[in-house]
Amino acid sequence: MAAISMRNIVKKYGDGFPAVNDVSIDVADGEFMILVGPSGCGKSTLLRMIVGLEDITSGDMIIGDRRVNDLAPRDRNLAMVFQNYALYPHLTVYENIAFPLRLAGVDNATVDQKVRAASKTLELDEHLQRKPGNLSGGQRQRVAMGRAIVRDADVFLFDEPLSNLDAKLRGQMRTEIARLQKRLGITTVYVTHDQTEAMTLGHRVAVLKRGVLQQLATPRELYEQPGNLFVAGFIGSPPMNFLPATVDGDQVQLPFGTVKIPSERARLLADSGHREGVLIAGIRPEYFEDASLVEPAKYGSGSTFDAKVDVVEWLGNETYAYIPFEAPPEVTEQLEQLERDLDGDSMRTQLVINLDGASKVEEGDQAKIWVDSRKIHLFDPATGRNLT
Ligand code: ATP
Repeated sequence: MAAISMRNIVKKYGDGFPAVNDVSIDVADGEFMILVGPSGCGKSTLLRMIVGLEDITSGDMIIGDRRVNDLAPRDRNLAMVFQNYALYPHLTVYENIAFPLRLAGVDNATVDQKVRAASKTLELDEHLQRKPGNLSGGQRQRVAMGRAIVRDADVFLFDEPLSNLDAKLRGQMRTEIARLQKRLGITTVYVTHDQTEAMTLGHRVAVLKRGVLQQLATPRELYEQPGNLFVAGFIGSPPMNFLPATVDGDQVQLPFGTVKIPSERARLLADSGHREGVLIAGIRPEYFEDASLVEPAKYGSGSTFDAKVDVVEWLGNETYAYIPFEAPPEVTEQLEQLERDLDGDSMRTQLVINLDGASKVEEGDQAKIWVDSRKIHLFDPATGRNLT
């Protein structure tokens, strides 16, 4: 097993804009690290540089105690699991798993011992004589991992392994991969554009945008303390609401009313030179509630406002309500840019709030909505940085 240290990694294709721009990430021994970001952010390029399928323009790639920049892929002792698993359809499960050992000229007795040990770990021992065509998607994935295990690889690398599967199978495979990684404890780097995979699988998650590392943190930190507007908008579904916010000390005026933020947050704002002015507030849909359903003990830590709800989606255990608003010109440009970065829907025209399923709010209602003012983030419109 091995740790990976990527130090100031840069990748340029030709003279173009760097596909990976000065990225430094340390993956601990046994850690499950996710590289996530929208299409073109450089995550596959970074993975391919770990594997050795792509030259590194500058920086150091250290695996274990070796600098591997100039080592051929076969000398790095890594195992890559691809999207389609790359199994041989005419070979049995046994021979598919044995394949890398046969290539390396390993003797039959050792091959047998390793294949049987790996298939036991993966609960494939009853299927060794079957062909991939007769296996479920989950079993195929395990065969692909078995092939990686018999090689005693130091690191597992996954490039969007679930993106071809339907939603149900994707969910099953996700838990399967999580379980196996935990059991095997092998250092793993996993590329995805899917924030659910990132949040559920990763011990830590590296969020990339246009080749630049935006934040490297645990899923919980990314969710609760996003470092900038991009991460805040990328993580969470439905996404965080972004609203213009006029700040004066601990008073924050939002399109639907004024809220009082906790004094520690106001102090952070003042320390960063933003005691007053127009900022962008970020509030997750679940930080709102139907005011009539808020527990009395909690009520005082939030603010209540009246809002005209134009669409309601009832999902049983929760309800999404949509409230239109107009963003003033001061922040329109930043929000438009954010929409482009996130490839997302309009963030300037409506508030999405997630109410308890018990809420009786209906379309067209002038509803009393409560917002938890302890949970409001405030971002610098110029830099996108989270100031709170
Ligand atoms: P996707 O999820 O769409 O695969 P990604 O985040 O994995 O995207 P990369 O495939 O790493 O992104 O691409 C990063 C940038 O580098 C993109 O702008 C892409 O067009 C460019 N790029 C990738 N491969 C090459 C190549 N072989 N030659 C030139 N440019 C490339």
